[in-house]
Amino acid sequence: MYMNTGKKCKCGFTVGDPMIIPKTKYNKKGYFWLSMGYSAKPTEVVFQCQTCGEIIATSTDEEIIEKYRYNSDIIQ
Ligand SMILES: [Zn+2]
Repeated sequence: MYMNTGKKCKCGFTVGDPMIIPKTKYNKKGYFWLSMGYSAKPTEVVFQCQTCGEIIATSTDEEIIEKYRYNSDIIQ
């Protein structure tokens, strides 16, 4: 389960809306391996609005990380 707090961004979107995109975060070592062309495991998943850029939810849950690690953008 991700932490769906029901929080809305400035535009009124919540987790689950198409404008809210999951993005994965890596630690320094993870970024290094990614830049070398290897895969690395994200440390956190964030849910960010594409319109206003606000992050409305984050998760460090293993299940969520596994779910999004291959089909989300990387946040720097
Ligand atoms: Zn927004």
